[in-house]
Amino acid sequence: MSNHYDVIIVGAGPAGLAAARALVDAGVKDILLIEREQEAGGVPRHCRHPTFGLQTFYRPMNGHNWIDRLLGMVVNACEIRTGTTVVNINPGGEIHVSSDRGLEKLFAKRVILATGVRETPRHPRLVSGVRPQGVLTTGALQQFIYLKKLKPGYRPVIVGSELVSFSALWTLCNAGIKTLALIDENERITAFRPAALFAHLMGVKLFLGARITKINGTERVESIEFTDAHGMKSHLECDSIIFTGRFVGEYTLVRQSHLAHESESGRPLFDQYNRCSDPCYYIAGNMAHPADMGDQCYQEGLVVGQTVAQSLRENKNAEFVVPVQLDELFRISAPNQISGGSRQNAPVTLNVRVNRYHKGEIIVRDGERELYRATHRCLPERRILLKEIDISKITPESKLTVITK
Ligand SMILES: Cc1cc2nc3c(=O)[nH]c(=O)nc-3n(C[C@H](O)[C@H](O)[C@H](O)COP(=O)(O)OP(=O)(O)OC[C@H]3O[C@@H](n4cnc5c(N)ncnc54)[C@H](O)[C@@H]3O)c2cc1C
Repeated sequence: MSNHYDVIIVGAGPAGLAAARALVDAGVKDILLIEREQEAGGVPRHCRHPTFGLQTFYRPMNGHNWIDRLLGMVVNACEIRTGTTVVNINPGGEIHVSSDRGLEKLFAKRVILATGVRETPRHPRLVSGVRPQGVLTTGALQQFIYLKKLKPGYRPVIVGSELVSFSALWTLCNAGIKTLALIDENERITAFRPAALFAHLMGVKLFLGARITKINGTERVESIEFTDAHGMKSHLECDSIIFTGRFVGEYTLVRQSHLAHESESGRPLFDQYNRCSDPCYYIAGNMAHPADMGDQCYQEGLVVGQTVAQSLRENKNAEFVVPVQLDELFRISAPNQISGGSRQNAPVTLNVRVNRYHKGEIIVRDGERELYRATHRCLPERRILLKEIDISKITPESKLTVITK
């Protein structure tokens, strides 16, 4: 078996599968898809509700059915290694993998990183109290219920009010488990307002502007303490707590690699082609913008696959790159830098996230020159697209800033 490939894709979730499909369609022959789990598919494999498929097959599909169809499109056209973890990425497309075959070195002309995201668990949220059983994330909950057919609790409380929090609620409901309450620090729900109605109809109490201060229990969770929006302390008996959302990218590989990255988060620096500081490396899917929906990551993976196929035919390296600077409202921008040069000036879209609610104008400037202005209503964790930004006149001296008014 060869250890040299045209393209290696790390992560066989929707973004990785899409990139593989685009590469196959573009006629690229030696493609290897690497997945650390025993089965390819990424997160949707354990999402059993019909919130996938609208953009790809124009109908709602359960996550596992959707992913089976996507997998079917590439399974015979490229090599897929499951149960294999990429442990190191090195300059020029040399990667190290670990599997039951031991450690191996592989080489590729291009590498696409599509390693996804994870939810913020309890520990970084600084919730005090003891560490009993019964504390988990939505991802873990879905794996318990859908893959292992186990019920991790009977009286759960959900922390968070993002879309994924309602995904947790739906999962519990499917398993016949009644959720007691949904608690979030935000004063309004982060998901779309009708989601609150869904919770209400299911008899779930909603505590907004509330914060868990302590988890009680010795062997298992027995209760929580929280302060409500008015600072009043409350106590709620429960046997499990699901911490949902607040997605962070899976950047372990990037942090320990030669790729330039944001020092705090570890998110790689990448341009409008999703190309990293080492032009052999590209990124795709949720690791670029924690976190978008499955269909959106699939569409992006297709574009990255096409771009990489194109780069194998004709290499257009950046002549210069300009960072995208954000004011304090913004948490991230994808891409976080723009490549410039005589052949790299098509309009770009920035996918941004905010730290707090904002309704007003968002402006993109190059120094004093305005490149974009539009009114947006922004909520934390929601995808906000600043489209068709004209970068035709950027220079190595440009100062690209995204600001609010
Ligand atoms: C709990 C949860 C529920 C969700 N519910 C919905 C929903 O209902 N509807 C919806 O549209 N979206 C939902 N999403 C979002 C959706 O799942 C993502 O948008 C989509 O899966 C992102 O695709 P991806 O390919 O970027 O990443 P992922 O699906 O996360 O795939 C990344 C893959 O990379 C692999 N990997 C990571 N590191 C390595 C390594 N070092 N070596 C080898 N493999 C590696 C991982 O094992 C994983 O399989 C949900 C997300 C979560 C976390």
